[in-house]
Amino acid sequence: MKATKKDFLYEGKSKQVYSTEDPNRVIVHYKDDATAFNAQKRGTVVDKGEMNNRISTLIFKYLAASGIPTHYIKTLDEREQLVKKVNIVPVEMIVRNYIAGSMAQRLGLEEGTKSPVTIFEICYKKDELSDPLINDHHAVVLGIATYDELKYMYQLSGKINQALTELFLKANLILADFKIEFGKDADGNIILADEVSPDTCRLWDKDTLKKLDKDRFRRDLGEVSEAYHEVYDRLTSVLTN
Ligand code: UDP
Repeated sequence: MKATKKDFLYEGKSKQVYSTEDPNRVIVHYKDDATAFNAQKRGTVVDKGEMNNRISTLIFKYLAASGIPTHYIKTLDEREQLVKKVNIVPVEMIVRNYIAGSMAQRLGLEEGTKSPVTIFEICYKKDELSDPLINDHHAVVLGIATYDELKYMYQLSGKINQALTELFLKANLILADFKIEFGKDADGNIILADEVSPDTCRLWDKDTLKKLDKDRFRRDLGEVSEAYHEVYDRLTSVLTN
């Protein structure tokens, strides 16, 4: 069945969501808008929506082939994907291989050090509270997930980390850290949702350590659009050769 946009449902910081004829499917539209620091910094990045749509497409297909359940169904055009409708579990799952960003700041550690273990953090998705870091007990008390569901999300995140680390390494990129979101589909299954892109991953060139992700926007490093293009080009050559 051909997917057509029906009603506008929701606008997030970098994407819009539309309903379709099928109540279990929605269309995600990727925008060029960029925000950082809980939307205190705003801007646009040329081609970002198109690049993130393409990068997410490559990654969702790769993860599905690696046995990870995702919301992805198909890519419709340069900026849109058809995905399974889910109820987003309101936590951001952050997986860290290297010390960076908010963790470096919070703990007074130097950015760039490889962590001896994989670090998992969860944040409560709540704009008014600036997405605070929480633990499993908080998540259970807030009714976000059960202990079993959390255990499953950590397991899946570990597998996703392994698969993505391998993929990016082939593209000569270090996956320093990333954020993912899960949703519950119509059957109640927890699946990977949202996006996986340089907006949500810290990616460093393996040789030069040049940042090829949204930190270029956050920290005014310049060549932001070029970085997204570079990641797309590298992934394409890894996945098609
Ligand atoms: N991240 C994200 N959305 C957020 C917060 C973080 O995609 O709202 C990603 C970010 O790009 C990085 C990882 O999650 O790859 C860890 O981010 P961190 O907690 O260090 O926060 P930040 O430094 O981005 O504020």
